[in-house]
Amino acid sequence: MGCVNEKQKPKTYNYSMGKKLNIRSLDHAGLREIATRYGQKPFRGDQLVHWLYGRGARDFAEMVNLPGDFRAKLDRDFEVAYPTLVKRQVAADKTRKYLVQLADGTLVETVAIPERRRLTVCLSTQVGCAMGCVFCATGQMGLMRSLAAGEMLDQLMMVRQDFADATGGDAVDRLPVAPAAVAVAASTSPLRISNVVAMGQGEPFANYDATLAALRMINDPALYGIGARHITVSTCGLLRPLERFATEPEQFTLAISLHSAVQATRDALMPELSHQPLAQLREALIYYLQNTSRRPSLEYVLIAGVNDNAAELAALLDFCAVPAPGFHVNLIRLNPLPALASGASQPLTSAAPAAMRTFQKALAQANVSASVRTPRGADILGACGQLASQGA
Ligand code: SAH
Ligand code: SF4
Repeated sequence: MGCVNEKQKPKTYNYSMGKKLNIRSLDHAGLREIATRYGQKPFRGDQLVHWLYGRGARDFAEMVNLPGDFRAKLDRDFEVAYPTLVKRQVAADKTRKYLVQLADGTLVETVAIPERRRLTVCLSTQVGCAMGCVFCATGQMGLMRSLAAGEMLDQLMMVRQDFADATGGDAVDRLPVAPAAVAVAASTSPLRISNVVAMGQGEPFANYDATLAALRMINDPALYGIGARHITVSTCGLLRPLERFATEPEQFTLAISLHSAVQATRDALMPELSHQPLAQLREALIYYLQNTSRRPSLEYVLIAGVNDNAAELAALLDFCAVPAPGFHVNLIRLNPLPALASGASQPLTSAAPAAMRTFQKALAQANVSASVRTPRGADILGACGQLASQGA
């Protein structure tokens, strides 16, 4: 299994189909840089962002507000490549899972969760994950590669198009992406993307720059315009990126995959994080609380016989004794994995509902806000921790 931590960040892959570089592998800053490199003002880069990620332009000729000679040079040096939707599954609860093929052929998964007037997109930031958490199917894949910012935006574009399709299209299992139609269709879409969670495949903080660039574009009013508070990053808590995140100007929401406040238990569950003492994670979170005054969530998957006992509960309560605004604890039922986790000697199973209730009650008594997360899309392996299958 691949093994990297924040010190050995994988390089983001610059995908190109032939000799030309796909211009959509560049993020906002990269496109501004291209503009100046070609003798243009930086705002021409903003216009490129609008065409490539807002309008879904397929050709430089469409970009009518760019000077002709600039367009000609771009056309000479770059191509515009989009991903393809290879497979789409719809769960009994209407959660949709997409298998997306990127321009270089790499496959990645995205989940869309409709709920009344809300539509949450759970996007992947990497293909696979290097952290190897024993309860997580993605962790059992190892890391294939990190995604570019544009490839994260492409996942949103895919969902936006799918939900703009008035037919619902439940029987369709292969849809080409036609981004030019997206902007038009989206304006009449009955369900617009309201929330984004970087909670699909991958560890966002092991691909920090690209993830933040993507989140900023999702937040950008000229593109998706989704409020920062409605954009959540879920991380296993790599320390240095976490400290950096605490100083970012946007009010993005933070979720930390804790899963145990007992060092030995957490080391066994999340082996690639064993170099990071929990005390340091807690300190970094206190820094985050003081710097941002925002309340992060702690994700806690309750696993029978592993982290559901009284000692674990006591350690969790201690961990949560932090300055205001404190933590919100998300208690999560373990979603079954497609196969036995390689590091586990026996299949891991979800804790009993009684343990869930005991944890919830004790947290409430200690004035720690807590909720129980309802799994979505489990029948299509679209729920948390189940994203792994490349062709399923
Ligand atoms: N790498 C990031 C984001 C992706 S995992 C992280 O770990 O936070 C998204 C969420 O799914 C995390 O909270 C993770 O702990 C949880 N998860 C992983 N495997 C799970 C499983 N089998 N059942 C329920 N939740 C799981
Ligand atoms: Fe990676 Fe998150 Fe899964 Fe752990 S839980 S292996 S960090 S995706």
